[in-house]
Amino acid sequence: EKMSLNEIRKKFLDFFKSKGHYVKSSYSLVPQNDKSLLLINAGMAPLKPYFMGIETPPSTRMATCQKCIRTGDIENVGKTARHATFFEMLGNFSFGDYFKEESITWGWEFCTEHLKMPVEKLWVSIYEEDDEAFEIWNKKIGVPEEKIVRLGKEDNFWEIGTGPCGPCSEIYFDRGEEYGCGSEDCKPGCDCDRYVEFWNHVFTQFDKDENGICHPLPKPNIDTGMGLERVACIIQNVDSIFEIDTIKHILNGVVKIANKKYGISEKDDISIRIITDHIRAVTFMVGDGILPSNEGRGYVLRRLLRRAARHGKLLGIESSFLNELVDRVIEVSGEAYPELIERRDYIKKVIAIEEERFQQTIDQGMEILREFIQKLKENNEETLSGENAFKLYDTYGFPLDLTKEILEEENMKVDEKAFNEEMEKQRERARSAREELNEAGWESDELFDLSEGINSKFVGYDEYETESKI
Ligand code: ATP
Ligand code: MG
Ligand code: MG
Ligand code: MG
Repeated sequence: EKMSLNEIRKKFLDFFKSKGHYVKSSYSLVPQNDKSLLLINAGMAPLKPYFMGIETPPSTRMATCQKCIRTGDIENVGKTARHATFFEMLGNFSFGDYFKEESITWGWEFCTEHLKMPVEKLWVSIYEEDDEAFEIWNKKIGVPEEKIVRLGKEDNFWEIGTGPCGPCSEIYFDRGEEYGCGSEDCKPGCDCDRYVEFWNHVFTQFDKDENGICHPLPKPNIDTGMGLERVACIIQNVDSIFEIDTIKHILNGVVKIANKKYGISEKDDISIRIITDHIRAVTFMVGDGILPSNEGRGYVLRRLLRRAARHGKLLGIESSFLNELVDRVIEVSGEAYPELIERRDYIKKVIAIEEERFQQTIDQGMEILREFIQKLKENNEETLSGENAFKLYDTYGFPLDLTKEILEEENMKVDEKAFNEEMEKQRERARSAREELNEAGWESDELFDLSEGINSKFVGYDEYETESKI
């Protein structure tokens, strides 16, 4: 019997607990006291104050399974086997405690002895200048030189704006030629789905200041990140993360509603995977208190939700359907994330309202956009005017990114400068009217309605940051 995703999570946290780590449940997707980041995108992100020595960690060794959102990967979703906008990142962390040797040794031990990955399928990468990491992999662990790939800064030097940074070393799994791109120099680091990067070990040796200068940290740190869905994909030996036990359950729900079969048409499959991914992201985001809006996190949420709704249309789904899928997400993730169970009704209500709102205008908007595209084609033009893009945004609720994406499918683009000018004009006009609305742009009665769904526990995130319930 293959290990389930939930079992792998537990195995990981238990393993690092046995190595003296303090195990903590996931932080919220909403960064606390960190203006540099819109959404948590890695296990280490909420731990930054510990890495920087601003706060004292509860233990110099910690392990988490962190909810992450990466909108930068949105275009890969549904197209590669390994990218999601929402995923869970397993991680072990050392705050000036152990360093490279332990991190690599335990990483290898976990993969080969606990996950029982076949050694011959494993490859590693190091930062091209990191000879220390090479020595450990090669001499201590015994990975042959030809399976240790040296990569440049772009892949194997980790940094997020300012703050802690340093060289990385990644562990890859070779899924076999049939997943490869066929190129002669296909190796770890290649864009295709053959060598799957699943665990990144960051050796946080530096602190980067606002001017981009790296200062050596007095005590180096360890920050590792392992994509839980990717590991499950490897262990369960399925084609993509969309076919692992948990995500497949959600995908099956999409397929059922769309009345389609998965694996028949690649175009439909992409839409099915996009909806599956986005409903996970949206459920977790609303669960962490984010509301749809035209700015910031709320915009990310709105964009994902409306993008999923549009793919529903492409599959021929006529009515609202996204809020129905929330139950499927909770069925597979609720045990590890009890906040989803506690806020189930609230999450469904927020999604239903937002979806309903877009439902009313999406068909008309699509029709109008089709006409715009037709006219551009007739005139041999490729740029939609800012005014028209704004009309789609303002009257039909099309996030700019959605309009851009649909145009890109036709090799067209938007005059974004003019769009932004229209936006500015609108802001001026709406300034006074806006005062009657709350920050998220939701009518106050809607919000009042929703607040009933937020139980008294929903006061902040601190109280969820208790010891792992997993
Ligand atoms: P990739 O090169 O495949 O895009 P990455 O180098 O951007 O991954 P890291 O920043 O090193 O990823 O994150 C640590 C781990 O998190 C990765 O090794 C991978 O297992 C997982 N991960 C990263 N991005 C995603 C994603 N979009 N979906 C699912 N898992 C991801
Ligand atoms: Mg990436
Ligand atoms: Mg990478
Ligand atoms: Mg990486």
